[in-house]
Amino acid sequence: MNQFTPIIIPLHTISQFDKMLKIEHIGIAVRNLENSNQLFEKLIGKPAYKTESVISENVNTSFFEIGESKIELLHATSPESAIAKFIEKKGEGIHHIAFAVEDIEQEVKRLKAEGFQAISDKPKPGADNKLVFFFHPKSTNGVLIELCQEIK
Ligand code: ZN
Repeated sequence: MNQFTPIIIPLHTISQFDKMLKIEHIGIAVRNLENSNQLFEKLIGKPAYKTESVISENVNTSFFEIGESKIELLHATSPESAIAKFIEKKGEGIHHIAFAVEDIEQEVKRLKAEGFQAISDKPKPGADNKLVFFFHPKSTNGVLIELCQEIK
């Protein structure tokens, strides 16, 4: 129980280039988007700069800017939505962390090779004009990881 195992990170897992640019946003699953928009407007001190429906994911989203990063609120529009299932299991709260990457295809390849468990086959269009790709929380200490790249 009290055993401490030192964590040794092999050098090859550390990319020599800065391909992960920043934490682009943190996704938060909410039950009621209107209430949460008001709550986060109060918290952050300014309103959402955008709201958007992602039909393919059965979610409505809204985005708040904080410096270089964002908060993405996610609201299920159907019980089939991953967000509905998440809330059913865990309640409201942090759903994923999104890293902005320079080259999403490259990073997906790299992380797959490192053994991270991909959720889909390839990057697809998501909210906020981005290509997105997800890695399963099973392989990332319980946190769903999104990679995203601006669509130019
Ligand atoms: Zn996201």
